[in-house]
Amino acid sequence: MRIVDLSRDLYHRTPSYPGQPPVIHGVWKTHEEAFAESGNIQGNSVMFFSMADHAGTHIDAPRHFGKSGMPMDEYPLENCIVPGICLDLRHIAPRAEIGPDDLAAALKASGQTVPQGGTILLCTGHHARTFPTVAYSTDNSGVNEAATAWLADQGIVHFGIDSMRPGPEGRINALVHKVCLELGITHMESLCNLEALLGQGPFTFIGLPLKFRGGTGSPIRAVAVYGLR
Ligand SMILES: [Zn+2]
Repeated sequence: MRIVDLSRDLYHRTPSYPGQPPVIHGVWKTHEEAFAESGNIQGNSVMFFSMADHAGTHIDAPRHFGKSGMPMDEYPLENCIVPGICLDLRHIAPRAEIGPDDLAAALKASGQTVPQGGTILLCTGHHARTFPTVAYSTDNSGVNEAATAWLADQGIVHFGIDSMRPGPEGRINALVHKVCLELGITHMESLCNLEALLGQGPFTFIGLPLKFRGGTGSPIRAVAVYGLR
């Protein structure tokens, strides 16, 4: 079994989505403080964090898209361990739209078939090109409405991308989220290291969310597993 980690490091002030709270990760108690508190027996250090439920590598709960959508704690775990493939879209320019024809061509070039009930990861190269510069939060390419419908038509439960949003910044991205709600799929954002999956064939994708009651999303530890028995 071989595991490829597709998750961003979570650390203090890592780039967060414009307008959302920053990731705050700090020391709550040092080893020295804890050692003194325990009567100099054992010093257990503790850290704390505060962040949006859309921080770092995460999955959008359908609740994010609208009040009728399912919240994070009710999202089926069966959708979190699924067969996956990765498509190469690195030739699409920054901020450009990825259309259905681009996806169909990338699928054909990959020589793979879409796993039913699975996921399609879109390697745009955006993370590798821009992280952690300011361009990371603005310059991504992404799917348009028609491409999102194409993805849903393939019979997947979600798709993932190596940028903060599935569509190019602005109106298109908002419409992509609307289409996801209407067509009953969702997506993962801020994946990374997707280049490592290209040319490697199908894998098992695992990305389990935290059980936020009523949550609109959750960080996930996203991995691709090869040779899972
Ligand atoms: Zn989203």
